[in-house]
Amino acid sequence: MIGNIVQLLCEEARWSGRFMILPREVAGMPKEMSKKEALEEIRERLEKCRCCTLCDTARNIVFGEGDPDADIMFIGEAPGAMEDKTGRPFVGPAGRLLTDIIEKGMGLKRSDVYIANIAKCRPPENRDPLPEEIAQCIGFLEEQIEVIRPKVIIALGKIAAQTLLNTDAPITSVRGKFHEYRGIKVMPTFHPSYLLHNPAKKREVWEDIKQVMKLLGMPLPG
Ligand code: SF4
Repeated sequence: MIGNIVQLLCEEARWSGRFMILPREVAGMPKEMSKKEALEEIRERLEKCRCCTLCDTARNIVFGEGDPDADIMFIGEAPGAMEDKTGRPFVGPAGRLLTDIIEKGMGLKRSDVYIANIAKCRPPENRDPLPEEIAQCIGFLEEQIEVIRPKVIIALGKIAAQTLLNTDAPITSVRGKFHEYRGIKVMPTFHPSYLLHNPAKKREVWEDIKQVMKLLGMPLPG
């Protein structure tokens, strides 16, 4: 029954171009729940999502992972091949670089932060998610952010930065400065996959990361 309602609302949303997330009340879930439970409830709704055509080719929906109480949330654009295969965010070569930034650079464990993407299904051939796909999917991330309420979001790359900051500005003009998303500080920086091809830009990313660490009162490496 609920599944049918989801499908109908979703189809209507897809055709009308409006975003739709099934409210918790409709899904029959209690409003009062822990962060972990709230994220699990979002995941359950997400797994039923057929709101855009990306689910037609994706093998797995990539929800996100990490500490529900994280101070820092990293947000990328969409799953790649490894993420699609495993159902986990940032686990390919770019993910290994992100893990190095978190663990070797920031001195945290990967499990101390939360990692997610703007779009939850892999776009074919690793293309950027289209604006209409982002419009259909972004509500899930908005809910994740609302549950986690991190102190800082690090937006990885153009798509994440432009979507969260609601701007067309290039990543080169927004990175390196704090912005705001619904009262949460946002630091845009280059996407790790860009760094794989442009290693000289790692220095700029590290400067951005150090600003975040400073804001959070984290010790900077000597
Ligand atoms: S990309 Fe997002 S909106 Fe599109 S089908 Fe997957 S979960 Fe749903």
